[in-house]
Amino acid sequence: MKKVKVGINGYGTIGKRTATAVNQQDDMEVVGVTKTRPTYEASVANKLNLPLYVPDEEVAGDFKKAGIKVAGTIKDLYKKADIIVDCTPGEVAEEYKRQYEEAGIKGIFQGGEDHSLTGISFNASANYKESWGAQFSRIVSCNTTGLVRTLYPLDKKYKVQSAFATLIRRSADPNDSKKGPVNAIEPSLKIPTHHGPDVQSIMPWLNIQTMAVKVPTTLMHLHTVMVKLGTEASTEDIIDLWKNTPRVRLVKGKSGIKSSAQIMELAKDLGRPRGDMYEIIVWEDGVKVVGDTLYFYQAVHQESDVIPEIVDCIRSMCKIEEDPSASMKKTDMAMGI
Ligand code: NAD
Repeated sequence: MKKVKVGINGYGTIGKRTATAVNQQDDMEVVGVTKTRPTYEASVANKLNLPLYVPDEEVAGDFKKAGIKVAGTIKDLYKKADIIVDCTPGEVAEEYKRQYEEAGIKGIFQGGEDHSLTGISFNASANYKESWGAQFSRIVSCNTTGLVRTLYPLDKKYKVQSAFATLIRRSADPNDSKKGPVNAIEPSLKIPTHHGPDVQSIMPWLNIQTMAVKVPTTLMHLHTVMVKLGTEASTEDIIDLWKNTPRVRLVKGKSGIKSSAQIMELAKDLGRPRGDMYEIIVWEDGVKVVGDTLYFYQAVHQESDVIPEIVDCIRSMCKIEEDPSASMKKTDMAMGI
């Protein structure tokens, strides 16, 4: 089988995880990653035998001086790749989109970009087919991925009338020592926050409102969610639904998982690369239906929940697998989910 050739632009938090996950699949391979500066992550890419590309010849000199091997410039990567997974931070995506277009290759952008950049946003369970054969698509953010993973199956089975979520957000990723707050709780004062509309980029019909606060932790985000259901369901029905939902993992406070700290420990104990928890975690003993309203808590590992979605999006855009659940099963099997 001919493998899809994947380039990764921006070998940071999302980029390096994408590289690992793509190379775990048998129908795609990483043909190169990019770095703009000769940091330790660039040396690691060398150690992992990931061909390393840089913005231009001038910068290549800095890498060579630092003893880091360079395979070429990003323009050379465009010639090798069928698709670029763009994992750059905000504000450069417009320019890169133009470059991918000029090179005649496909591009996947991340949740830091607006839906309007691509006009298509992706979640494997909810709208795999919308990205079928597309030149550009966008993986929704970690928080949106979390909300769609639990709300989409709920809506399909019990017709969600309205949903309200408060997002308790981590202040920074664990490797980021610059951001805060370090000792404060910071509410998002623009109400409702942008997260509801982002969910609607996948489920436009969903009546959802969100609020958010940032707290001094780096491990995970946590959502408190309230959902008005359109048809009757018991607490047990909801738990059963999520038990059979891909990429949702139920845990119990009673068994010792009381916080994001134990979830991260569980991921490490499971032997996951980088201690990643790709699934959205729902506390089974924190799910409750009262009348027509469902209440629950879920936790999102911001660094990794989008990674299996990126792999499925590559399959949809490159027309490798038509069936969403077959793609998801294949991805999950290869990633040990
Ligand atoms: P990051 O800062 O960890 O990594 C970004 C990478 O891009 C770095 O390797 C950096 O060197 C490189 N880069 C910077 N400027 C560049 C340029 N002009 N050209 C090419 N490369 C450049 O960022 P991240 O956390 O991986 O985020 C990437 C995207 O993924 C953002 O859109 C972000 O919103 C989204 N995202 C992040 C998370 C998260 O929690 N970290 C979760 C989901 C989605």
